[in-house]
Amino acid sequence: MLESQLLESIRSTWLNLMIQRMARGSGLREDFRDQLDQFFTMLIQVLETGDSAWFDSILSNWAVSQTQTDLEGSPSNLTRFLKEAMLQMHQVCRLQLPDDQALQVISALIPCFADAFEKAAQQEMQIKIAYLSGQINQVQQTLEKLDRSKSDFIAVAAHELKTPLTLVEGYTAMLRETLQGQNPDSSQMLLISGIYNGTHRLKTIVDDMIDVSLIDNNLLSLNYQPFWLNRLLHVLHLELEGSIQERKQTLEIRAFPGIEELNFGDPERLLQVFRNLLTNAIKFTPDSGAIVVDGRKLPGFTEITITDTGIGIDPEDQPLIFEKFTRLGNISLHSSGKTKYKGGGPGLGLHIARGIVEAHGGAVWVESAEYNEETRPGSIFHILLPVRSGPPDDRLAHLYAPLIQSTQGKSENPTPAAP
Ligand code: ADP
Repeated sequence: MLESQLLESIRSTWLNLMIQRMARGSGLREDFRDQLDQFFTMLIQVLETGDSAWFDSILSNWAVSQTQTDLEGSPSNLTRFLKEAMLQMHQVCRLQLPDDQALQVISALIPCFADAFEKAAQQEMQIKIAYLSGQINQVQQTLEKLDRSKSDFIAVAAHELKTPLTLVEGYTAMLRETLQGQNPDSSQMLLISGIYNGTHRLKTIVDDMIDVSLIDNNLLSLNYQPFWLNRLLHVLHLELEGSIQERKQTLEIRAFPGIEELNFGDPERLLQVFRNLLTNAIKFTPDSGAIVVDGRKLPGFTEITITDTGIGIDPEDQPLIFEKFTRLGNISLHSSGKTKYKGGGPGLGLHIARGIVEAHGGAVWVESAEYNEETRPGSIFHILLPVRSGPPDDRLAHLYAPLIQSTQGKSENPTPAAP
């Protein structure tokens, strides 16, 4: 007798056994019987034709109909079903058929079940991968949403804080000027100065928070204008002279190649970069330390270095310090001044500096052997700035055309390097 005929003879016994073993609720049984019956028919088709494609539609339907709980669980439902189907088939053959016919059917079914297992594993793997990538996408979207709402929160909070702060700062400045004229040594003058300094510092932090949210949301827009590095550094030297003297430090700005050349960028933003790096150099260098600004010309870029003789930064912390709100080591928690030795800060300065430099198409990084307050290995901050012959916006380029022409050929400007 043919294997398919032998199989037909055991169909109903196999169906009953499978229903008893696998279907729990009675409502489920009728539907399950139909599906088992279909599977049995497909098994006979595969056996007769040798083409395992007959399994495709039923296995794929079963794989797709798995619930979320099935997908999250580790043992596979489909392979568990096939294992049970095969075992029960084996059992029924042994009980209902003579030994030689049982052997004939079981041997013929082994390759069919092997194909079914392979197909089930493939189907389930595809469905599981699709399910997991969906989960990953969902998590990613939630994270992006959280990140956006965090930045939105910072932006709104910062703007809401900035308006009243500007008013308080303005009125306190006016009050201080009036008192300065009338009674400069009074105790009120001391109080007003305290309020003014505190408000000013708070406003700087709020401004930094706005900058961080602009950078993190790719909203930082640069106002491209001509600039000369020596002029920027000269302005900063004057601005920081008081702090440098107070800390008995020295600041040397070397006349490196490219420092006097015309370049295009956002001078206000670049001032902010160098201010952040120089105040850090002052802050993390002990009294009597030395700070040197040097640089060199590279093809298409100018590289500026700020070297200090301060406490240094461990190599493993170096990538971290450019992330927002990072402060390392034992720094004082309250910031009684921007350039006090190891004085605290909100940990935003380097994140902002990197955002601005990268918006210019440049890069910023640090080099330091280690963090050591005793030996003071120092740090070197590198700023790589692209050299531009004009602003990127063509509409602005014609505005600066006469300046660009006049400096072509004689690339240096008449302003001397900073003292
Ligand atoms: P802030 O100065 O407000 O703390 P920054 O983003 O400017 O934040 O700097 C982050 C941290 O990087 C600092 O708290 C300090 O630990 C470290 N750091 C920055 N510049 C230097 C430097 N020149 N020498 C040693 N450590 C530094």
